[in-house]
Amino acid sequence: MTHEPAGIEQKTQAFLDRQNHRMLIDGQWVDALKNKRMQVVNPAEETVIGSIPSAHSDDVNKAVGCAKAALEQGAWGKMRPSGRQNLLLKLADLIERDARIIAELEAIDNGKSAAIAQAVDIGLGLEFFRYMAGWATKIEGSTLDVSMPFAPPEADFFAYTRREPVGVVAAIIPWNFPFLMACWKLAPALAAGCTVVLKPAEQTSLSALYLGELIAEANFPDGVVNIVTGDGQSTGSALITHPDINKISFTGSTQVGQLIGRAAMDNMARVTLELGGKSPMIVLEDCDPEKAAQGAAVAIFFNHGQTCSAGSRLYVHRSIFDTVVNRLAELAEAIPMGPGLDPAAQMGPLVSQVQLDRVCHYIETGCQEGARLVTGGERADRKGYYVKPTIFASEDDSLVIAREEIFGPVLVAIPFDDVDDVVERANDSRYGLAASIWSNDLSQVQRLIPRLKAGTVWVNGHNMLDSNVPFGGYKLSGVGRDMGKQSLDSYLETKSVFMAL
Ligand code: ADP
Repeated sequence: MTHEPAGIEQKTQAFLDRQNHRMLIDGQWVDALKNKRMQVVNPAEETVIGSIPSAHSDDVNKAVGCAKAALEQGAWGKMRPSGRQNLLLKLADLIERDARIIAELEAIDNGKSAAIAQAVDIGLGLEFFRYMAGWATKIEGSTLDVSMPFAPPEADFFAYTRREPVGVVAAIIPWNFPFLMACWKLAPALAAGCTVVLKPAEQTSLSALYLGELIAEANFPDGVVNIVTGDGQSTGSALITHPDINKISFTGSTQVGQLIGRAAMDNMARVTLELGGKSPMIVLEDCDPEKAAQGAAVAIFFNHGQTCSAGSRLYVHRSIFDTVVNRLAELAEAIPMGPGLDPAAQMGPLVSQVQLDRVCHYIETGCQEGARLVTGGERADRKGYYVKPTIFASEDDSLVIAREEIFGPVLVAIPFDDVDDVVERANDSRYGLAASIWSNDLSQVQRLIPRLKAGTVWVNGHNMLDSNVPFGGYKLSGVGRDMGKQSLDSYLETKSVFMAL
């Protein structure tokens, strides 16, 4: 059965009709100073649908300068916490009003389902602005009793800490959840009172630019949020090396994260890095095979596997291995594929030709390495960068496809016999973003949780996220946390004040 893509909202069409999009610096919509541009591609159609400015170091310098001025000289720095709270709440209302439009832009630019994006990406994003709006008025320091043993007994002191915004933030985000990642960075930075230069991924900048319009409509002072577009090489690197950047918040590949971490240290910029993963899903002997198969399908195929926490290594107890893997293959084969605007489609194209080539290369590698291809394993026979949901099975988890992050709809299922052994194998990865355990044996589960080296451990679920729950990685999966109060804290400095009375 084929489904005709639904029509799009007038406002979405009007936004797309502009074709040559502009970026936001100091409240103005501008082209790059050198007038260079990059193409915007619709991955379902493989067609160019417009262009974005390709910002150079001059543009980045201007944006950072404006962000600094907005922090130090403008109304923002003097604004009371409740003022920031109200702006964030206003912005969340505008996002809610335009949720469908943003979801459609996401579908057209990234390839994901508009219906899923509206519920998940946009839904979580606006909820996160509301959550962080609450924190804006609850920032606090402490009063500290001091002993000062070397001071004379009659001397008196008073010490306290105050939390202050870390300063100008560079936020660099990836293409897999373009809108949600912008929210993850902007909401805590703004709640804390920082100003921001946001660089969306060059493949998917449209929803961030639309968000820029809502930020202007909400009446944030000019220069508080600046959005520069362009690639990593020229735009991103100009941003991360700028001496006036006080914090870099990055989500993306481990390779670029390492580079950003080193650049940050040159200026002692604070840094939050949310990087790659190869997250294990561990299905214990007592788990209902149907539940495990359904869970694994969500763990790996949500967002077409382009999720840093994707459950890409599926460890299943040998006694139920075949049942789970065969059922998972049935589920994979039944996933309706189609463009993001098709309301029936659950899986769209990958984001780009580059990503398609990369995923197909890993699939070839898996076959060459001798893994058993259970289902999928090829590009779908249609226009667009579609890859069929792919499942490999192997006894050997030292294969490249079981170790490297593929960032596509490709899973490796591995049987295990012994719980101690599976913990060791699950931890034998350079990554440590997330893991999930599937079992109703609470004692066993509780014993396993502390042993897994991962920033998040899910039990009987995978990819569960909430504004109040920190998210981030152990090992090469990153530094620091997004979401939760911990994320707010990472946009604040602690100033100690010590007075002799
Ligand atoms: P992917 O390989 O999946 O595209 P990246 O980690 O390369 O993921 O990209 C994530 C974000 O990092 C994008 O916004 C990209 O433009 C940016 N980026 C890539 N390289 C650099 C760099 N050298 N300096 C700063 N930002 C970069």
